[in-house]
Formats: sequence, structure tokens, C-alpha cells
Amino acid sequence: MNTKVLKVDQSHIDQNLIEQAADFIKNEELVAFPTETVYGLGANGLVPEAAAKIYAAKGRPSDNPLILHISDIEQLKPLVTDIPEAAKKAMKAFWPGPMTVILNKKAIVPDGTTGGLSTVAVRMPDHPVALALISASQCPIAAPSANTSGRPSPTKAEHVFEDMKGKIPCILDGGMVGIGIESTIIDFTGEHPMILRPGFITPEMFEEVIGEPVSIDPAVLDSNKLKGLAPKAPGMKYKHYAPKADLLLVSGDIDKVVGYINKKTEQAHDQALRVGIIGTDDTISSYHGDVILSIGTRDSDDTIAQNLYDVLRQFDHEDVDVIYSQVFDSGENGFAIMNRLTKAAGYDRIEV
Ligand code: AMP
Ligand code: MG
Repeated sequence: MNTKVLKVDQSHIDQNLIEQAADFIKNEELVAFPTETVYGLGANGLVPEAAAKIYAAKGRPSDNPLILHISDIEQLKPLVTDIPEAAKKAMKAFWPGPMTVILNKKAIVPDGTTGGLSTVAVRMPDHPVALALISASQCPIAAPSANTSGRPSPTKAEHVFEDMKGKIPCILDGGMVGIGIESTIIDFTGEHPMILRPGFITPEMFEEVIGEPVSIDPAVLDSNKLKGLAPKAPGMKYKHYAPKADLLLVSGDIDKVVGYINKKTEQAHDQALRVGIIGTDDTISSYHGDVILSIGTRDSDDTIAQNLYDVLRQFDHEDVDVIYSQVFDSGENGFAIMNRLTKAAGYDRIEV
């Protein structure tokens, strides 16, 4: 299959290109498109045969449900049985934006989209290209991240091309995304709202808007996976976001972290191994590894979120045997960043 890449300027959207992409969606084909979080791999979310193509292209396990993307709040009512007051407040505050809500689904939403669950995940993305595509396609678009299952999510059209070339007919290239990590998922079907996946919107931001306590799925808080809890969002149980080389996280006082990583690098060199290192602008000159990449500035967690997946992917083009990384747990995005990085490392983390 030929994969067409259509470059769209988000400040002057060429409606012609959007219509071309929407024609693929209308014909039950796949289109990758930019959102403010990561690139999505979209199909008509109400047609099981179309959604099935997403699972095939990604190699995604069929029990991992998809998020339905809408461009207008009116599109929500036909999809869900009821909208609790707390969900209404959250949608008013955070849509369009990086928040996915879980609500009880109506029969119109096929099991092929929800992995057989009685609930459905819905989001209104805050990206002009995504909104234009959804509205031209005249249907909710089911879209998980546009990566091969298990690999880091795509934050540039080039990442999508790397994974999906020859497998999908169309990529809308809207440049680099803004946020860089997936939406916060919040479940409104229980007694109290519960965060199933951390993201740009934090528990504190929700509590301020909703006016009641918001809990976090205990499995997500279990950062060592010692308790072996099953996450409530099915996709959270898979190894994810991982680069090909083994990744080890090192936490502690920054001078000690640098010292430890440099010592490990020497030991690796004695065994003729090549070492990759993930540092920040202020630390990269202190390391002695073979490939040293900066993930951003230590005091700006927004830059770290934005570069996280790009850095993990860059190591796949380098011949390294092992990757060491500092941890990035400060700032408002710290929880979400460490949730992704910890999984990418397969929970390998040491404190120095
Ligand atoms: P992705 O779009 O690749 O970021 O993956 C979507 C995430 O949403 C996965 O972790 C899914 O397990 C989760 N998800 C989708 N629908 C539901 C649902 N109805 N209940 C709980 N989690 C869901
Ligand atoms: Mg994903």
C-alpha cells in the first residue's frame, strides 16, 4: 500500500487536504493525524470493520479498547447513556483538550471499538487539524496512538511513517505535537471519579474544577509493580513506550546520579558495550557515554514531556546496548512522565 503524506499548515488549513483524508475515513480506511498530545491512528469508530484495521496496523491486542474522538459536544450524547454532573464540569473546563472521559456506552458504539466493555472512552482533542478531520468525516474517529503496539508513541509525522509506512493509506503531517504524552484518562462510571492514566491534566486540576476528591487507579500508583495489581484501563497493563535497548532509570541527588552513570559506563566499556544516556541540557556535558541525548531543561517539565518519545525513538537508530536515564519527577507533568518512562524501563529503577 502506498502511504500518502499530506502536509497541513495548522494556521492556514487547506480544506482540500482535509477532505482527501476524510474520504479515506468515510471509506472505512485509516488516517493518521496530529493531536495536541500525540499522533492518532484514526478510523470510523462506529464501524467495527474499520476499527479492526487499526488493531491490524498496530499489532494491538484486541482487548485494548480505543478512544473515540469528537469535534463537537453534540456528538457525545448519541454515544453514552448518561453524563454525570462531575463529567460535565470536567468537559466544560478541559475540552477541547488532553482529557479522555470514560462513560457508559450506548449500543451504537460497537464492541469492536471498546474491546467488549460496556463503557466507552471519549475525547475532544485541541488541535485544529484533528478537529477539521473529525468534522469533515462526519463520525466519531476511533484513534489510539499511531505507533506499532509497544513502541514509543509518535510525536512527529516521521515517527508515524517509521511505524506505519505501507500499512495505512494516509498521514496528515501537522508537524511536532504540543504536549507529547497521551491524554489523562478519567473514569466517571464509578461512585467517584478515578484517574486511570496520568497526563497533562493533573488530579489537583480535576479536583479544583469538579469540587470533589478524585482518586487514582491503585495499579498506576504501584510504581514497582510489586503488588501486581491489574490496571483498570486495559492498555496500561502492557509493556509500552519501550526503546529496543534496555533502559535503566537512576534516581537520587543529581551529582550522585551522574557519578553512578559514569561508573556504569566505564564498566560497560570494559565489556565493549555501547552506552546511551538520557540527560538534561544542564547535565549532558558531565556524562561520558557513547550517545548522550538531552530530553529538555530540568526546570521545564513541559519540554521533557514534549521530547520524551522522540528521545526514546532516537536510540533505536543508534547502536547502543544499554541506556541510562536520570528521572524527571518534578513539575506538574512529573507524574505522567515517570508513568511512561517507568514502563519504558520495564520498571527497572535504582536509587543512588
Ligand atoms: P491509546 O489511545 O493508545 O493511548 O490507548 C487508549 C487507552 O485508553 C488504553 O490504555 C485503553 O486501555 C484505554 N481505554 C479505552 N477505552 C477504555 C474504557 N472503556 N475503559 C478503560 N480504559 C479505556
Ligand atoms: Mg498508545
